[in-house]
Amino acid sequence: MSFPDRCDICPRACLADRRTGSGFCGCGDKIILNRVSVHKWEEPCVSGRRGSAAFFFGGCSLGCVYCQNSAISRSPVGKEFSVQEFSDLLLKAAGSGCETINLVTPTHFTPQVCEALSMVRGRISVPVVWNSGGYELTETLKLTEGLVDVYMPDFKYSDGELAGRLSNAPDYPEIAREAIGFMLSLRPKAEYGEDGILRRGVIVRHLCLPGYRENSLRVLRELDALRVRGEPLLSLMAQYTPDFYSGDDKNLRRRITTFEYKKIADEAASLGFEGFTQDVTSARATYTPPFGEEFADETDDKRNKK
Ligand code: SF4
Repeated sequence: MSFPDRCDICPRACLADRRTGSGFCGCGDKIILNRVSVHKWEEPCVSGRRGSAAFFFGGCSLGCVYCQNSAISRSPVGKEFSVQEFSDLLLKAAGSGCETINLVTPTHFTPQVCEALSMVRGRISVPVVWNSGGYELTETLKLTEGLVDVYMPDFKYSDGELAGRLSNAPDYPEIAREAIGFMLSLRPKAEYGEDGILRRGVIVRHLCLPGYRENSLRVLRELDALRVRGEPLLSLMAQYTPDFYSGDDKNLRRRITTFEYKKIADEAASLGFEGFTQDVTSARATYTPPFGEEFADETDDKRNKK
């Protein structure tokens, strides 16, 4: 797998030479990781009892104004890893007792991550989860085929104006529809192990934003239309917290109400989606890992093996 001389691996197509510089995502050609955490708050079929080994990458190809990982997404803080070093870390995490390998926002490192995954193929027995923002090209996602067991993309927006204003990506709706459709064609059916961990499938996450119920309802209808490609699980998230937002949009300065969330959850139920809902009280900033300047690896922690 080669990395393009001029980067066009995500829809931004910055054409940056990442050996010497960076584009919108802020990253060069080395993988940047801030943290490998034992994460117990993902969907139950991803976290299981012992937690998921969550790899938090620095930088991002989206620019969400409310991002709860903004400490590492807006500027790529962390440590650089070569493909070989990253593959060693994957093996170590997979052997740590965690239930899954959870790659959080890997899109802007897709070629390097896939090269590392192909180096360790057959030596990782836990599912590999591609936990992305949904803003990715099918051409690039083809690299993940056979290397990723579970796709867990966001489907944030059906409204291009909103996507432009809140994530600097007005083309997000059509890009995400194509990406999720492609993921569904790769993993059309949810398959579970006896331990209840999802071994294969697609979980589509939608974060319900306060004041933008129509956007959410249209996302659900658009996802419903994609079911001709496969059957996704739906994770309807109520955990938006205004702690990370400092702009002028009054909607984003509050949490979602129980009424708003219930209306969206009712629509999901009427469309017959299976999956996960959240309590509105889950909207707490304490679920965000404590990102620091230095790289940290928690998978050594003996508590994971209990
Ligand atoms: S991965 Fe980064 S440099 Fe490449 S096109 Fe996307 S934002 Fe630009």
